[in-house]
Amino acid sequence: MAELQQRLLSWYDESARDLPWRATTDPYAVWVSEVMLQQTRVDTVIPYYERFVRSFPTARALADADEDAVLSHWSGLGYYRRARMLHAGVREVVAQYDGVVPEDAEARRALPGIGRYTAGAIGSIAFGKPEPVVDGNVTRVLARLLRIDTPTGAAVTTKRLWEEAARLIPSERPGDFNQALMELGATVCTPRQPKCESCPLSEGCAAFAQGEVDALPVAKARKAPRELKLAAVVATSGRGADRKVWMNKGDKALFGGLWGVPMIEGTPRDALRAAGLRARLRTEPVGEIEHVLSHRRLCIDVYRATGANGVETHSHKAFSPDELDRVGVSRLMLKVLAVAF
Ligand code: SF4
Repeated sequence: MAELQQRLLSWYDESARDLPWRATTDPYAVWVSEVMLQQTRVDTVIPYYERFVRSFPTARALADADEDAVLSHWSGLGYYRRARMLHAGVREVVAQYDGVVPEDAEARRALPGIGRYTAGAIGSIAFGKPEPVVDGNVTRVLARLLRIDTPTGAAVTTKRLWEEAARLIPSERPGDFNQALMELGATVCTPRQPKCESCPLSEGCAAFAQGEVDALPVAKARKAPRELKLAAVVATSGRGADRKVWMNKGDKALFGGLWGVPMIEGTPRDALRAAGLRARLRTEPVGEIEHVLSHRRLCIDVYRATGANGVETHSHKAFSPDELDRVGVSRLMLKVLAVAF
């Protein structure tokens, strides 16, 4: 093994954080952890991961669960599409491979929700194959180490990063190597004030040698998030302990298909009408919420309506507070409900 790889692995052996998913090489558990870790902080993921694999310890157990149960375990983690795709992926594993995650890289990559990154993480960590991974942390480390100065996100940069990651990965301990690169990016080669003095790769790091650490990686130009003005209506029927809140299965693109109160780009009456509800609507909003998604800024006026009447269907239902605790509700919906009650 070349010196750089050895230095990185020795550093990892000494410094790796003790994280629950590092105690296993079960491909299903690795898969769950990698999906949860995409766009979410490690500290946030830990309790979610532990609860998820306790409730769904195998691919088959997850495949057998209904979507609401899966989403309720994801509630608060955000990016719910990840959960639905994971669910679809394990169902495919059960249907096609008898519940065993395939070792073959092509078969893994063909599963729903498994992109190049997740396939590489499972391949290297669970199956010990020299398959590279490139995420935000790896991008930063490699851009600095190799002085890659084209903008992140550009096709030419992505291609180069994957090629370099594939070139660097050793055939011995490839899973640890990938995790070490990511760990280095998370704890040493951080976006601001990287700890180059204590970095195992400082000798041979091009950006460090040239004094260009702060200039790399070169960020891609960002678009401002589009603003969306919405009306949300918390419509209830019944009173006191019998009170129920009417919810719809949400917009899959925005809310990953979680349950939410009627919400629309329009008036509160439009929202009630679209949900097929008749109710006494208070004309003034009871509050206002701002919620920023990755590419949109939502400005939501929250309204209250009582005496609601509607027909329950698979995507439209009135929930008691207890039932609401058991289904998947997004963080945004928790904010809306908090304003209304
Ligand atoms: S020396 Fe500094 S810039 Fe280079 S890899 Fe290490 S922490 Fe990152």
